[in-house]
Amino acid sequence: MLLRNFIFWLSTKKGVTDPIARRGMRYGFARRFIAGQTLAEAVDSSRELNSAGRRVSLNHLGENVTTVEEATRVKDGYIEMVRELERHQLDGNVSIKLTQLGLDISRDLCHQLAEEIVGEAHGIGRSIEMDMEGSAYVDATLDIFEATRRRYDNVALAIQAYLYRSADDLERLAPLGPKIRLVKGAYREPAIIAFQKKSQVDANYRKLLERLLGGGFFPAIATHDPKMLDFARECLRARGLTDGRYEFQMIFGVRRDLQQQLREQGHPLRIYVPFGTEWCPYFMRRLSERPANCWFVLRNLVAESFRGKN
Ligand SMILES: Cc1cc2nc3c(=O)[nH]c(=O)nc-3n(C[C@H](O)[C@H](O)[C@H](O)COP(=O)(O)OP(=O)(O)OC[C@H]3O[C@@H](n4cnc5c(N)ncnc54)[C@H](O)[C@@H]3O)c2cc1C
Repeated sequence: MLLRNFIFWLSTKKGVTDPIARRGMRYGFARRFIAGQTLAEAVDSSRELNSAGRRVSLNHLGENVTTVEEATRVKDGYIEMVRELERHQLDGNVSIKLTQLGLDISRDLCHQLAEEIVGEAHGIGRSIEMDMEGSAYVDATLDIFEATRRRYDNVALAIQAYLYRSADDLERLAPLGPKIRLVKGAYREPAIIAFQKKSQVDANYRKLLERLLGGGFFPAIATHDPKMLDFARECLRARGLTDGRYEFQMIFGVRRDLQQQLREQGHPLRIYVPFGTEWCPYFMRRLSERPANCWFVLRNLVAESFRGKN
């Protein structure tokens, strides 16, 4: 836990992330978890994933924006991503982060930009998924999602099992019958609002998943945890739910063995495909989830430096 927290803390320090970012793509170790730096590279990866029977959700990596111009540029970028998916006839959608759409500047601006993206996607028969970020943004994200979902049915939302409030949030959203991506939660949240022990988060994940599968939602089961996957498969079997009523979701490059297994078992699977130049904080959050991944990075660095000397 200490090592996880330390790596997570490092991921917020630019003095650490900038040098890693300069070397990561050159040395190739970031490629394991990042589809590339450009939309064209993300499209290529998506094509490969589609041919292997996986849907995609494109995610343009970036951190909070602080000006209206930046937020508007990000909005244009998201719309471009939706159009590219359509132009290349790929089986995929786009995941958006509201802090990249100016949530820190103005809730109204953010809502307006988010709705523009969802409306544009709606016009060409595509969907949008809203990521859930740190707890300071949950209220605003729910409000914006709810308002947007009232107008358009092509928008989904991530809900985090580590938050105590999530069961109530699901009840609030139930009348809309939305698609919900159930995740454990990727940020460090205090005990006053979030479960701290893995066993507690897992128990809440199971409870919320049962609620989602109970009806009224389209569940996206987003986890790499073999125990959660077993539980989900058991629930799906017991309820007789088939393709078209749910999907699994996993992150690009993470537990590819389990991704393969789900596909072999015939389950629908969507891969969250991150790309962009600002990949380092995201990359380090993935390392913090599984410090063993650090060995993978170190191995690459050592191997590359030996290759460099030859
Ligand atoms: C498609 C998708 C979208 C997501 N969207 C959001 C979001 O919007 N908001 C948010 O807060 N979080 C999001 N997350 C992240 C999520 O909250 C967790 O932080 C992350 O998925 C790790 O939790 P886990 O369920 O995989 O299980 P954990 O209990 O963390 O891990 C269980 C097992 O999964 C494997 N594993 C997990 N992570 C890794 C890794 N990085 N590398 C290798 N193996 C690993 C290991 O075998 C580990 O033992 C998303 C996750 C997915 C899959």
